[in-house]
Amino acid sequence: MAKRNTKAKQLILDSLRNSQSAVSQEILQKELGTEVDRATIYRILNSFCDDGIVHKILGDDGKYYFAFCIHCSEKAHQHNHFHFRCLQCGNIECLPNELEIPLPKGYRPVNFNGFISGYCSNCSN
Ligand SMILES: [Zn+2]
Ligand SMILES: [Zn+2]
Ligand SMILES: [Zn+2]
Repeated sequence: MAKRNTKAKQLILDSLRNSQSAVSQEILQKELGTEVDRATIYRILNSFCDDGIVHKILGDDGKYYFAFCIHCSEKAHQHNHFHFRCLQCGNIECLPNELEIPLPKGYRPVNFNGFISGYCSNCSN
């Protein structure tokens, strides 16, 4: 069981790493076929979130997507960036620009959820 789990983790990690786009649980399930079941994918993705390996993005379609964390650790996730969904090719990506959002005095942000849809640089012309 533990061994199968390790393999599933590796498969999911590889497919997240190879993807240019953030992926949903559905997309992962399609890629992995019958090799890893739904509950396992769900559990592994959430444990990756806890470990600071991936972050969860709530899309404007109401679905969750998962993307690789660049500078995160188990203790500190830093996600002051927007996510962009392309209406043409469907890619969801982390925008590289880190943002400083002004908040009223005394407010301390924990979670940032910014989302933009439109046309990516490949599709906009
Ligand atoms: Zn993170
Ligand atoms: Zn596009
Ligand atoms: Zn991101």
